[in-house]
Amino acid sequence: MTNIILLGPPGAGKGTQARHLVENRGMVQLSTGDMLREAQANGSEMGKKVADVIARGELVTDEIVIGLIREKIAEGAEGGFIFDGFPRTLGQADALGDLLAEMGLKLDAVIEMAVDDSALVARITGRSTCGGCGEVYHDQTKPWPADGKCSNCGSTDVKRRADDNEDSLKTRLMEYYKKTSPLLGYYYAKGQLQSVDGLQSMEAVAADIAAALD
Ligand code: ADP
Ligand code: ADP
Ligand code: ZN
Repeated sequence: MTNIILLGPPGAGKGTQARHLVENRGMVQLSTGDMLREAQANGSEMGKKVADVIARGELVTDEIVIGLIREKIAEGAEGGFIFDGFPRTLGQADALGDLLAEMGLKLDAVIEMAVDDSALVARITGRSTCGGCGEVYHDQTKPWPADGKCSNCGSTDVKRRADDNEDSLKTRLMEYYKKTSPLLGYYYAKGQLQSVDGLQSMEAVAADIAAALD
């Protein structure tokens, strides 16, 4: 069982690679972004509370996301967890360490997905996901099949995120540099950081992550 963090700016390819690991290694993806969007879609109180913050591209409070992750870790995962988009602050990183220790689990690796900022606008503005299964598509690099049906589940429900625009991305990148990038030093100092070149093809990135884990 392997527990890993995928760390990188918005659009780095975390979700894409997390899905690959789920399919190939039976790991469980824990994406706080997906959980927050689900809470919004359900119309829950928490979902309403975070809607504006997410639309602006700012981070929601540590308390909220740590609560979400705590619930999921308690459910366990035989193949291990992939933390995707969490932790995003030093406070979240400390909390994750505590939660894993409580459950008798350890963190095996933190994979930095390094991508130039200049590539992120195109990554984000071209992104869509399948409403049926969550498969991640891109207008240029991974377009929807010509018949409009998801190659994974056959759904025709193309979803685009309201926060996937240039304005919000600017704020999200600023948040990343101010609050999340210190985690690179934090995990480097613990001897857990590994870096892969996220500008390569999806297949090459997947191969590098596999090599880092084996
Ligand atoms: P994140 O979860 O880090 O925000 P995603 O996995 O959603 O990133 O990827 C962002 C966009 O970039 C998606 O449209 C995805 O299809 C595309 N993408 C992901 N990895 C690559 C890659 N290696 N090369 C080109 N495009 C990619
Ligand atoms: P991306 O794919 O662009 O990296 P996510 O789906 O991970 O984006 O997150 C979308 C938004 O949800 C973030 O901009 C932020 O508002 C909120 N969010 C997600 N995860 C966290 C977290 N761990 N801490 C605080 N806010 C978060
Ligand atoms: Zn699908």
